[in-house]
Amino acid sequence: MPTKIEWCKESINPVTGCSKCSPGCDNCYAEGTAFRLSRMPKTAAKYAGVVDERGRWTGKISGLDLSVFDRLPQKPCSVFVGSMTDIFHENMIRHVVRVIIAEAFNHPQHTFLFLTKRPDNMREIVTWFISLYRKFPQNIWLGVTVCNQQEVDEKIPILTAIPVESRFFVSLEPLLGPVNLHFGRSDHLPSNEKPFQERHHLIPILYQVCYNTSSKGGGYGTSSIGRGEY
Ligand code: SF4
Repeated sequence: MPTKIEWCKESINPVTGCSKCSPGCDNCYAEGTAFRLSRMPKTAAKYAGVVDERGRWTGKISGLDLSVFDRLPQKPCSVFVGSMTDIFHENMIRHVVRVIIAEAFNHPQHTFLFLTKRPDNMREIVTWFISLYRKFPQNIWLGVTVCNQQEVDEKIPILTAIPVESRFFVSLEPLLGPVNLHFGRSDHLPSNEKPFQERHHLIPILYQVCYNTSSKGGGYGTSSIGRGEY
């Protein structure tokens, strides 16, 4: 589906469902959207059981719907995979992720963006995928969402340690405080001593620094980014 998200043209949800795992989840946009869609006739089946009667994530992940790939346009575009879930959620069955990765491989004209708040799980599943197939699709970019300095320091190194040739990216959304990404260049250093961002082509494409939009107010808040894809 076409999306209003600034950093991609399309978004698809081969599965839905999630649960909170970070301070950045406190104002989860997808949770409220899932609740609304679970009550609409056309989308109720896809969201059945992923939210409870109070509109909270249950942690259930829906069944796999590969037809979302068929509805992508013919011409090359960037595709966010999983705006209504975390593809690397702990309740995801790894074989389901394997099938999603393989389907992305079968659409080489597109660039697929896999974004997670759970880089440990991403590393584990991607490493397993590589052990099976000896390669990983280069049209998949792997990304992590971080919301504060602690997550920058903990999660980005896990992402960039994943042994793939594909691109890495980072989302700072919602940004809950000032962060230092250590993006200074280091041309004087040998390659094995360069900061991990340089060694691994880390791309900060998702800066979403928004002000005073969280319910608590303050200098930093939740992005009001649109998500028009179901
Ligand atoms: S990981 Fe994303 S979709 Fe899941 S609860 Fe957190 S913000 Fe929501």
